[in-house]
Amino acid sequence: MPYFAGIDIGSTAIKVVLVDEADNLFASKTVATGSHFYGNAQAAFHSLLKENELEPCDIGFITATGYGRKLYREADESVSEITANAMGAKKAGEAYGGIRTIINIGGQDSKAIQIDEEGNVVNFAMNDKCAAGTGRFLDMAARNLELELDELGDCHFNLKGAPPVINSTCAVFAESEVIGLLASGYSKEEIVAGIHFSIAKRTVRLVKRIGLEDQIYFDGGPALNKGLVAAFEEELMRKLVIPDIPQITTAYGAAILAREAWQAEAVEAK
Ligand code: ADP
Repeated sequence: MPYFAGIDIGSTAIKVVLVDEADNLFASKTVATGSHFYGNAQAAFHSLLKENELEPCDIGFITATGYGRKLYREADESVSEITANAMGAKKAGEAYGGIRTIINIGGQDSKAIQIDEEGNVVNFAMNDKCAAGTGRFLDMAARNLELELDELGDCHFNLKGAPPVINSTCAVFAESEVIGLLASGYSKEEIVAGIHFSIAKRTVRLVKRIGLEDQIYFDGGPALNKGLVAAFEEELMRKLVIPDIPQITTAYGAAILAREAWQAEAVEAK
């Protein structure tokens, strides 16, 4: 039985997902993108195959997506991350009664996508100009506050005072602002919560440009951060749907599109 691969070459992380013929998630792998987009994606794909005792000939079709998708020479097709994200969120969101709005925050951009009942993209808005509302901002904050990325969530909930308002509209100024806040005596917890609210406020403005319809699905690596999720829910005054593995939704969608393309080719060949 063949498997189908979705390879999402993001600015920060490469995600590889394999699904079976019924779109069940079979295996996945996430590695840092680094400076060799193609080489690292190829290595991640082959190591995922090896870990699961598969050969390249066991993979019926490969769909590449993400920032570096055009570089993946072995892909059978490439699709935009908006198309792949919409497909992944639609499928993963079925268990929650259907998704209409997707908030995706990646390493260096953020997006809001509106989908219809069939999962077709009907509208989207994107911020790829300013790193202050993206994963890059969280990476910078963790580095300056000497925290691991997966400690940011707990920090948010250990807040004692009021979080500072972080105004900078550019990641470079925001970095200076974070260092300035440390120098004025704010605790790490207060600064982390301030950053989460700043990202949530900025992204909610983006989402409001396309309209907010339930259910709202939040994905991308930063959705692993429970503190950021809480800041979004406070800003939006409603619960968000967070998938079990939010960082791989787009690769999962690409894998489903690979399975669909493979089946369409099989029908044509008959
Ligand atoms: P891209 O597709 O643009 O590479 P991702 O959706 O993979 O982006 O998200 C990358 C971002 O996810 C990182 O910049 C980081 O801020 C965040 N991230 C990754 N792992 C974690 C984690 N364990 N906890 C919190 N945030 C994380």
